Amino acid sequence: MMQAMRATRALIHLDRFCGNLRAVRERIGPHCRICAPVKADAYGHGAVRVAQAALSAGASHLAVALAPEGGELRQGGIKAPILLLSQSLPGEINEIVQYQLIPLVSDLDYAGELAAAAAAGGMKLPVHLKIDTGMGRLGCSPEEAPALAARIARLSSLEYAGTATHLAVADSPLPADMAFTGEQLRRFRGAVEKIRALGLDPGIVHAANSGAVLLHRDSWFDMVRPGILLYGYDPSGGGFPVQPVMELLTNIVLIKRVKKGESLSYGRTWTSPRDTFIATLPAGYGDGLPRLLSGNWQVLIRGRFYPLTGRICMDQCMADLGPETDIPRWEEVTIFGAAALSAADMAARLRTIPYEITCNINKRVPRVYQQFHF
Ligand SMILES: *Cc1c(COP(=O)(O)O)cnc(C)c1O
Repeated sequence: MMQAMRATRALIHLDRFCGNLRAVRERIGPHCRICAPVKADAYGHGAVRVAQAALSAGASHLAVALAPEGGELRQGGIKAPILLLSQSLPGEINEIVQYQLIPLVSDLDYAGELAAAAAAGGMKLPVHLKIDTGMGRLGCSPEEAPALAARIARLSSLEYAGTATHLAVADSPLPADMAFTGEQLRRFRGAVEKIRALGLDPGIVHAANSGAVLLHRDSWFDMVRPGILLYGYDPSGGGFPVQPVMELLTNIVLIKRVKKGESLSYGRTWTSPRDTFIATLPAGYGDGLPRLLSGNWQVLIRGRFYPLTGRICMDQCMADLGPETDIPRWEEVTIFGAAALSAADMAARLRTIPYEITCNINKRVPRVYQQFHF
């Protein structure tokens, strides 16, 4: 039986995703690899479908945060190398080995546990060394890196396949932030040189997130890991030519007359200043439409903007169509995703980042993949 379509849906433009990836490719040149981060269900866009699109458009690697996210990709038929960006628990190591994920390693204890599990499984597990150059989250210090690299290289069931760091302010063009990123890269290059001086091959060297692809040419090394840029948002605000991949749509389910002086929704925060038509939309914070946008967002209907009025509820919200309207019931509504109405604009209203907006679109909102052929 066909599943009935929900009105509220996230349209995922995979062609735009591939176009964004090609724009990154054009910027970095033909020789640098691209790793596509598809963690958190591809920033809310759907991990398997986005991973397939990324590989078809020329990404060589994928990256996830969690071992089960890697498992989902493997079960979806993805064969490409998958980096595991976050630190896993010892209890997840069997899953890492089973799915041949590539963990980023910060310490010898964990490398030893990975090596033991790989040896027990009779296989060689590729790992990348993670160096903390100023993010303060994961990674060994630059001073520890050469010795740790040497120890990893000597573990016969591990393959020392790469060396990475992560940048804290790479998307900021402010001079102090540019200088901090420069210092992170200097520490990273220094550590990689010392690893090479020991006669070791550091494997694929990589550091750049989206911001660094845009603002730090000397961060590209052998591979870049741009996430948000591939999903269509320029984190540096510099207008790099990418297009938003997710569009959040719904349909009007009811239009009613509201008289001057009548109030709407919980808390009665909005009282109509005039007789007007109100459209009820079946989308709310239960779908990931932030309640903090109540009274502070507009939706797009037939090319015109209409304000949301009253509190956003769990499952519904209301738009003011004005005193005279020819908009029919069931008409399509864009909540975000159009030009001048993007998830980045929504994020700016809430003083957050577009990553959080797309990640928070709830599971009950179906992802609809716009026709696309690889
Ligand atoms: C998420 C992530 C990225 C991608 O970051 P963007 O800002 O989306 O480009 C790159 N590297 C690591 C380690 C990450 O966790």
